[in-house]
Formats: sequence, C-alpha cells, structure tokens
Amino acid sequence: MGTAKKAMFGGLRRWWGILTFLLLIAAWKDSTVGPAVVLALSVVTLLWCAFQAPVACGAPVRGRSDGCRNNAYGLMLGCRQVRQHTFANLRLLFVRRQVREFCKDLFSDGVHVVVTLAGIGSFLSGLVAFVPGIAR
Ligand SMILES: [Zn+2]
Repeated sequence: MGTAKKAMFGGLRRWWGILTFLLLIAAWKDSTVGPAVVLALSVVTLLWCAFQAPVACGAPVRGRSDGCRNNAYGLMLGCRQVRQHTFANLRLLFVRRQVREFCKDLFSDGVHVVVTLAGIGSFLSGLVAFVPGIAR
C-alpha cells in the first residue's frame, strides 16, 4: 500500500493526463470556455490515456494470473521491458480481433478503470465539442 502510493505520487509527471482531464471538467463547467479549448483538452487527455498513462502492462505471463506488472504506456501499448508486450494490446485488438479480451483488460484493476473512464469521458466530450449545437 505504502509503496504503491509512493510510486503513484512519485510518478506524478506521468499522470499529467489526469490534470488535463480535471481541466476538461472545469472547462465544461465554465461557460466562458469555448469548444476549441474543450476539444484540445479532450484530444490530449485521450492521447494520454491511449499512449502515456502508467497502467500495468497486463500482458499474459506464464505462471502469473494477473499478467505482467511492469508499467505500460497507455491502454494501447504494453511495457517496454519485454519486447513482445509493447504491442500485445494492439495485436489483440487489430490482428486477433479479440475485442472482448481487450475490454476485459481495460477494467482489470483500479488504475485501468480510472484511465479508461478518463479516456471514455474525454472521447465523449471531444465528440460533443466537435459537433456544433450540442455543446451549449
Ligand atoms: Zn509487460
């Protein structure tokens, strides 16, 4: 618990996507902020979730039920310590078309859930900001 917390806050630099996500929520509440700002925040948050968020790699490892615990690079990429893991998620999604398996990974632990929800939230907000008329 103690070490997990330390790792989380020690790596605050890698958690900037949460900050942009909070800014995004603030931007939605503030009616003076234009849709261009909302769209920009949505895009960077979404990119962070997909390619930067420090989630656990989760690639299958023989003898471990919870898979690889190295830090990965976003929901789309795996860790860089093991070469086969780096693109394991993308392969799962696009080559093997195991969408259900991929989606299961998105909710495999607390960090994944937070990042996944931030990703979904920013995607929807970007969509709404992009379509004029819905926003406000
Ligand atoms: Zn890995």
